[in-house]
Amino acid sequence: MAASQNGWRVITRAECTDVEVPGGVLPVHPEFAWLAWDCAHLWHETVEPLVWPGCWGWANRPIRGGTDTSNHASGTAWDLNAPAHPQGVPIAKTFSKQQLEAIDRLELRYFGVLRWGGRWSGKSVDGMHWEGQPGVTLEAVRTLTDALAEAPAPTPPPPTPPAPTGWSGPDARGSGLGFRVEYGASGPRVQALQNFLRTRYPLYAKLLVCDGWYGNETARILAEFARRSAIRGADGRNVGPQIARALYVAGMRA
Ligand SMILES: [Zn+2]
Repeated sequence: MAASQNGWRVITRAECTDVEVPGGVLPVHPEFAWLAWDCAHLWHETVEPLVWPGCWGWANRPIRGGTDTSNHASGTAWDLNAPAHPQGVPIAKTFSKQQLEAIDRLELRYFGVLRWGGRWSGKSVDGMHWEGQPGVTLEAVRTLTDALAEAPAPTPPPPTPPAPTGWSGPDARGSGLGFRVEYGASGPRVQALQNFLRTRYPLYAKLLVCDGWYGNETARILAEFARRSAIRGADGRNVGPQIARALYVAGMRA
């Protein structure tokens, strides 16, 4: 049984889970799917938007410049924004101080299970690369996945807004991929959408007032969410099929 460098078995493309991330798909080992999804989303939101082509997961190839089997062959590694961060180029040259701080937070989040190639030295340094660390066990992957998936978003939840008054509706309707709402709507489901955006996307939504009114600020943040989800031309004044799908993929179940 061929194993990749971290000890995980080499798998075929067909054995991979296709993880939907902003702008594309990363094929990875099924047990790493949630972590890859989380890592790519948080990279997109807190480090830099994902750029395509330039991101990939599973690939059957040796490590560049070596003979060991790359962790990409077991689907336990993925590369983000490869053209911007070539292997061998020092991270200080391709990341800003703020970006490196955001990456610090990701490394802490996945500590003991995933590691970032940007920490390697000399020609090995690989700022695009994330992987399951050597010897990481299935149990460790599942334990971290469960802990993070169950936990609230990495930032504190927003304070409870004042009791709503005067909601006149109409409120949002539908659910999942059928979720729909327009500018001017009001009600508890608009408030749930605002809470989701504010909690999940503190980078640009942390100041959103979750008052249940779909006004200019909610539209501005939905437009930013759409832009970061690679939906072109959305002004944020309604949630249609594309934004509903992106919200669903991002984990909203309102
Ligand atoms: Zn890589």
